[in-house]
Amino acid sequence: MNPPIFPRHHLRPLACALAVLAVSTAQAQEAPPVLGTAEFSACLAGLKDAPAFRPITAATFARHIDGLAPDPSVLPLLDRQPEFTLPVWDYLAVLVDDERVADGRAALARWREVLGRIEQHSGVAPWVVVGVWGVESNFGQNLGGRPLVASLATLSCFGRRQAYFRGEFAAALRILQEGHIAPEKLTGSWAGAFGQTQFMPSTFFRSAVDFDGDGRRDIVDSVPDALASTARFLQNAGWRRGEPWGFEVRLPAGFDTSGAGRKNKQPIDAWRRAGLTRADGSPLPDSLPSAGLLVPARTRDGGPAFLVGRNFDTLYSYNASENYALAIAHLSDLVAATDGGVAFAAPWPTDDPGLSRAQNRELQTLLLARGHDIGAADGLIGARTREAIKAEQQRLGMKADGRAGQKLLAALRG
Ligand code: CA
Repeated sequence: MNPPIFPRHHLRPLACALAVLAVSTAQAQEAPPVLGTAEFSACLAGLKDAPAFRPITAATFARHIDGLAPDPSVLPLLDRQPEFTLPVWDYLAVLVDDERVADGRAALARWREVLGRIEQHSGVAPWVVVGVWGVESNFGQNLGGRPLVASLATLSCFGRRQAYFRGEFAAALRILQEGHIAPEKLTGSWAGAFGQTQFMPSTFFRSAVDFDGDGRRDIVDSVPDALASTARFLQNAGWRRGEPWGFEVRLPAGFDTSGAGRKNKQPIDAWRRAGLTRADGSPLPDSLPSAGLLVPARTRDGGPAFLVGRNFDTLYSYNASENYALAIAHLSDLVAATDGGVAFAAPWPTDDPGLSRAQNRELQTLLLARGHDIGAADGLIGARTREAIKAEQQRLGMKADGRAGQKLLAALRG
């Protein structure tokens, strides 16, 4: 879920998969500030009387707060400016690569029975839940390792979003107090998103479900709880049973896309009259009563276009990013597909597509072989990999922008 650093209404820090891409520069380059421990203790003591902390008992405070040290490393992350904005096709190349589709199909098969029961309750199709799971935590492999209490306590007392984080901090303490999750398991992103599908603590109390019936809503260690909670989140956001999120469409030649927008919904018949068809040329189906036109590449006649409905909005609400919602939607479709299709019908408007995680690892291996000190070839493009890419781009006479793309990979293979 998404960051309060965005000026949007929302929720939480970039989900793990992309956070790694976007954050590593800040982590590598900024020294954390020195925080006063006396100031911190006084702040925490003052919180005990704040309204949000009323449900928190003295025993919970004593157990989790007394003697707590601030974690200054979260503050540079709060203030970081994204210095490297990925084009939508680079996002999708990493988040919806062959590996994730294969892992998603395996997850769908393994959890089919549970996902079927979840669909009965929530109306959310199994592959949609799996799509969220894959994008948010790579099916539980990237949960985030920062202790939530220390991060949220620090953000509650220092930095520029204290009021927001105090609410999340109180909710985190309540999760511990009610025994849903063991204290040592309550870890996550720097801003407090945690669990298999990266809920913020306040989201937990709106959407978490005990689906395995043990009395605890354990979205960290119980996959049934986590997946049912994800479906409940989408249901709470207005998910409509039986409706698709949307689909790729073909625009008539010369179509004016200036009215495009997820929120600018029209009845499907209006889009038919305007000449839109599905990407394969077949008529628009009735399964989506009304939809908005999404043109992610934002260029005239460039890249895939989509009609997106109310269910796409619920995916959007998970992370307040249309590219993110599209990644979840696309991954869901591919996980559900029986024909193994992998791409949109229209190509993205680039002659240098992005890399999958496997290709990122290959690129890193080639950079290591050329003597660049970039650490392990982990498939995650961080600050050191970017610097090495820039150096190689310069050597090869390419634009030195630090971007990992097919052209650079091909040049280094050669
Ligand atoms: Ca449970």
